[in-house]
Amino acid sequence: MTERTVLISGAGVAGRTLAYWLARAGFRPTVVERAAGLRSSGSPVDVRGPASRVAERMGVTAKLREASTSAEALNFVDDAGRRTGRIPTRLFGADGDIELPRTDLAAILHDAAREHTEFVFGDSVTELREDAGGVDVTFERGGPRRFDLVLGADGLHSAVRRLVFGPERAFVEHMGVYIATLPLTGPPADPAAIEMYNSPGRAVAVHPSRGHGIAAFMFRGDAVPGFDHRDTALHRRLLTETYEGAGWLVPQLLEQVRTTDDLYFDSVSRVRMDRWSTGRIALAGDAASCVSLFGDGSSLAMAGAYTLAEELGRTPDDPAAAFRRYETAHRKLVEPKQRAVPAAAALLIPATRGGLAARNFGTRLLPLVSAARRLVPARAA
Ligand SMILES: Cc1cc2nc3c(=O)[nH]c(=O)nc-3n(C[C@H](O)[C@H](O)[C@H](O)COP(=O)(O)OP(=O)(O)OC[C@H]3O[C@@H](n4cnc5c(N)ncnc54)[C@H](O)[C@@H]3O)c2cc1C
Repeated sequence: MTERTVLISGAGVAGRTLAYWLARAGFRPTVVERAAGLRSSGSPVDVRGPASRVAERMGVTAKLREASTSAEALNFVDDAGRRTGRIPTRLFGADGDIELPRTDLAAILHDAAREHTEFVFGDSVTELREDAGGVDVTFERGGPRRFDLVLGADGLHSAVRRLVFGPERAFVEHMGVYIATLPLTGPPADPAAIEMYNSPGRAVAVHPSRGHGIAAFMFRGDAVPGFDHRDTALHRRLLTETYEGAGWLVPQLLEQVRTTDDLYFDSVSRVRMDRWSTGRIALAGDAASCVSLFGDGSSLAMAGAYTLAEELGRTPDDPAAAFRRYETAHRKLVEPKQRAVPAAAALLIPATRGGLAARNFGTRLLPLVSAARRLVPARAA
């Protein structure tokens, strides 16, 4: 019997996890990635909850730990850099959670998947034509090919979703916040803490990431008409205008915004769809259900990819049934995270001076709240 072929669009967290598990389930995966090689964005992401179990089964937990970052607390600072609040990062998660730069996560997943996967870098799908027996795919650069199945794991701005389900505006919801990140040239001032500066509607954080810092700018703003996530000149202008007059290290960080060649900038968005599949084509990760950076997007991407591959392995002759089971199971993890996005945004980027003061006061109470929780017996809670 010939192996079933699967094209996966996107070599991100979901795409590489899918490739690994589909090969284990008896499929022959090909991954097409638009970027020329491994992504450079070092923004820290988390592997936690169900994704920790997926990592364990892949035998990559030790490697993930080796690459983990060192942030033990999120410190809020004022104009002069004085600390105004502190949240220990262990309050966000559980034992076994690992935070690491996305580049390292991608590289570790790549190593796990590459033996049984064909990777094609620097290309993208342009047309998908499905019939009863398979999907004919055309590419920007490579010649046309035919696959049994096509999976879109190509992120927030998914090409597969656009080609099969319709334009981005039907599914992508701007959450009223923009995010920009860039790697810093020097080490962070505090290698054990994320430092965050706020003024109403604006936040800037410096995050330690294995020896160097990553700066993140997050600000509230309505959707910019004609916004293009690839227009770096526009991004530089928006950041300079938005952060004019800000204190702390912001003027120096803006200087680096002007000179860096590695600026990431996008709208913080949620993706919501009524269905994640049709016929022989399905979506995974951010392409299907982005929870924005305020959710557990990387963990959900790994967990969803595992479930999708597992279900396809159970009924390889009936992909539609497998896609339905995957969607039913994975939506249970995704939906609570999607509902929590506005609350997380309010915590990190309060819109008003009053909201900011309340947030900072609340963080001073957090150690008390968590100590009280430990004193209350679990049964009484
Ligand atoms: C700044 C920032 C901070 C974040 N912080 C956290 C965090 O702390 N914790 C957390 O859990 N999550 C975080 N996230 C979210 C997390 O990064 C994503 O949810 C996760 O990476 C989703 O994985 P994915 O594989 O679906 O998409 P991605 O990892 O985005 O991968 C998609 C891949 O598809 C490729 N691609 C795009 N278009 C095409 C195309 N047309 N053809 C071929 N390939 C294509 C892209 O180049 C990319 O490699 C953060 C996100 C951002 C932006």
